[in-house]
Amino acid sequence: MKKLIFRFSNRGSRESFNSKDILGGKGANLAQMAKLGLPVPPGFTISTKVCYDFYKNNKKLPSKIFQQVKQEIKVIEKISKKKFGDLSNPLLLSVRSGSRVSMPGMMDTILNLGLNDKTVVALKKKTSNGRFAKDSYRRLIQMYSNVVLGVESHFFEELIDNYKLTKGVIQDTELEENDWDGLITNFKEVVKEKTKKNFPQDVNEQLQGAISAVFLSWNSKRAKTYRKINFIPDHWGTAVNIQTMVFGNMGNDCATGVAFTRNPSTGKKEIFGEYLVNAQGEDVVAGTRTPKNLLSMNKSMSKIFQQLKKIFKLLENKYRDMQDIEFTVENNQLWMLQTRSGKRTAKAAIKIAVDMVQEKLISNKEAVLRIDPNILDTLLHPTLDEKAEKKIIASGLPASPGAASGKVIFSADEAEKLMEQMQDTILVRVETSPEDINGMHAAKGILTARGGMTSHAAVVARGMGKPCVSGSSEIKIDYEKKEFKSGDHIVKEGDVITIDGGSGKVMLGKVPTVKPDISGDFSKVMSWADKFRKLRVRTNSETPADTKIARDFGAEGIGLCRTEHMFFDEKRIVSVRQMILSKTLEDRRSALAKILPYQKNDFLEIFKIMNGLPVTVRLLDPPLHEFLPKTDKDISDVARELNMSNSDIKSRIVELHEQNPMLGHRGCRLGISFPEIYQMQCTAVFEALVECKRKKIKSVIPEIMIPLVSTAAEIQILKNLVDKTAAEIQKKYSTKIKYYVGTMIELPRAAIRAKDIAKYADFFSFGTNDLTQTTFGISRDDSGKFLNDYVENNIFNKDPFVSIDERGVGELIKIATERGRLEKKSLKLGICGEHGGDPASIEFCEKAKLNYVSCSPYRVPIARLAAAQAYLKKKK
Ligand code: ADP
Ligand code: MG
Ligand code: MG
Repeated sequence: MKKLIFRFSNRGSRESFNSKDILGGKGANLAQMAKLGLPVPPGFTISTKVCYDFYKNNKKLPSKIFQQVKQEIKVIEKISKKKFGDLSNPLLLSVRSGSRVSMPGMMDTILNLGLNDKTVVALKKKTSNGRFAKDSYRRLIQMYSNVVLGVESHFFEELIDNYKLTKGVIQDTELEENDWDGLITNFKEVVKEKTKKNFPQDVNEQLQGAISAVFLSWNSKRAKTYRKINFIPDHWGTAVNIQTMVFGNMGNDCATGVAFTRNPSTGKKEIFGEYLVNAQGEDVVAGTRTPKNLLSMNKSMSKIFQQLKKIFKLLENKYRDMQDIEFTVENNQLWMLQTRSGKRTAKAAIKIAVDMVQEKLISNKEAVLRIDPNILDTLLHPTLDEKAEKKIIASGLPASPGAASGKVIFSADEAEKLMEQMQDTILVRVETSPEDINGMHAAKGILTARGGMTSHAAVVARGMGKPCVSGSSEIKIDYEKKEFKSGDHIVKEGDVITIDGGSGKVMLGKVPTVKPDISGDFSKVMSWADKFRKLRVRTNSETPADTKIARDFGAEGIGLCRTEHMFFDEKRIVSVRQMILSKTLEDRRSALAKILPYQKNDFLEIFKIMNGLPVTVRLLDPPLHEFLPKTDKDISDVARELNMSNSDIKSRIVELHEQNPMLGHRGCRLGISFPEIYQMQCTAVFEALVECKRKKIKSVIPEIMIPLVSTAAEIQILKNLVDKTAAEIQKKYSTKIKYYVGTMIELPRAAIRAKDIAKYADFFSFGTNDLTQTTFGISRDDSGKFLNDYVENNIFNKDPFVSIDERGVGELIKIATERGRLEKKSLKLGICGEHGGDPASIEFCEKAKLNYVSCSPYRVPIARLAAAQAYLKKKK
């Protein structure tokens, strides 16, 4: 039989064995720590495979497995010299979840298992600490009832809060044994009322319930949402760790805490953590009591602090990464409860990677591989302008850096709704819990009134790369009235605020921002990435401003310059409309002549900035009606220019109307019907080149791109037109011009007939937005209505407009690549469209052997890093 249960201390297991898949991250690391000789409370892990068996067995724990579990508990009993359910020296257990990759707070854990009305008396006697025994028991009832029996936790919390109010105390620690006794009685009544059953007194029943609950939590709504967002496969399942309890709540020589071996916000090499004296488990992260800075432990428990410091160093060396650690101190003895690679901000990820290369802990290749390209996004965007006037209304902890502005919203679901309406929000909560995960994802930033730097809000926000200010105790939230107060200020739902997660400041209104700093460590990592990549990275850009940004971010050319965007400029739109609406070639030519100088100047500006790099110019693509006048004033303006009546114009507009413009008279079809339009655009490109030459600006080799081609004949005709135009210009200015002609591959037929098309093309650029639309027959603009249902039903595991559909669209790209290169070996291949900036799609492009990707300016660094990772991963 397959081995399904693994002891932490099992020295026989080999390192090479892919332990995280089977033991989950938490279990694997607990076993590793035990092997390193660190103090880990004895325990064992039930393999992730059992999670699968559990679901197959109608969500029941197979009884054979439970027998094995009981067997293993006997082993723990021997080591700890305690007995599970014993009436003189009871063993208590923690039952903990743990999947392959950490999903902080997403699944359930139950502590103090094995307590009941009788064992609690034994525990009291054994430890001579009645308060501790009762505190532990009430915690078990709370956790177990919530997690296993489904009783909402607020029923218990309210009882505690009310009791404290009547007693006139603030902290839980001020409650004594008899206080908890009373509360335990009340708690049990709640359980009886809500579940119609007594709180289970049989410790084996408790154990079985807890194990099942952990498996069930794998499919809780919040865990599912988290997996969707982070692309964690549903079939991985969770392991269950069963471990001896150690107690941080036995008195003042006890504590519990969490720590990072480096600062997860800035990346600085310093111990960063929090702890609470006389507390247990979730108290630190739950934000119910405000924890102390771990550094102060050097005074209060200095021996333990020194021991921790040594362990941090050992673990960093072992895992060669920054660790996120959980520990408990029981009567001055340290116990390690968890270690894992810690979540960090983008800024910290970069600093830590660079520092670790300097410390010779990792190589620069590993450094490049370690940084998630997606998180760079937060670094590339503007930060608050220091000079801007700010109306600071509160401050809290700088929990996750970056600035965000948006409308104040108090509920996660509301934030999600507003995101669908493209509105920016700041989610404001007393504290967040895993149920808020959807809203945290939807909001631009998160503000909480309670909780430390390691609170749920802080950890999740850092993981998401979202700005967060936590524990801003100045703000008083009133959920009912939908407002918060801070000093004299009242901020209502919908009011705009700005938060700065780097400084912890909360400001009224929208504060202006400035450009990010991408020098230093950032540019170092980027230069390493550039060394390791094969794919070139270009940008999609049609304005001088964007082109400049992209070059600063390291773009190696323009992969898509959409000329139609240049048509919308206020000064020329009238001429554009004139061109479209004119009935005669004559009129059209005269309108085009007016647009030419503008268009030429646009190219000149862009060529200057791109200085020697390739620029792909796409000829006019969208259906003409996009440019048509809509208001009466606009209609009269064009009518006057064209010497036509308003009603004439209106009937022309009706003529131009299309049932399905996406598949209508657009792309190269326009070039076939109205060659003079493409001719004008080519003239503008070539004359700009001539001018560059005259001004001694390093020449750009333009790549003229013909959109929406599906047949070889289309590109043949239009290539002729380009060549003819070029010849005319060369003659007119008696100079030579170098240029390429190519096409977008964005229709399935073009991909399939790539061999014929390549005869007339120097390059292909995969327009994956349209190619995805036309391959699936799904319009991107309308897919919003059902995309969620498709993801929900696992028809799509990712939105194909975000990450390339490798099996369909990707297959077409591969076909076109092969067939195209068969015809023309030198064919240059690239991808433009949203996918060019998506790391997963970039990995595909590397595998498909494309030459370059092209993405929006702000994604250029992300693409550079992703391209390096794609190459390194392929080589492995
Ligand atoms: P999560 O994955 O949500 O972090 P954990 O399984 O780590 O859940 O449990 C949460 C907390 O419970 C831990 O941080 C620790 O404080 C406490 N805990 C877990 N196991 C034990 C144990 N054996 N003894 C004492 N406390 C424990
Ligand atoms: Mg934990
Ligand atoms: Mg297109």
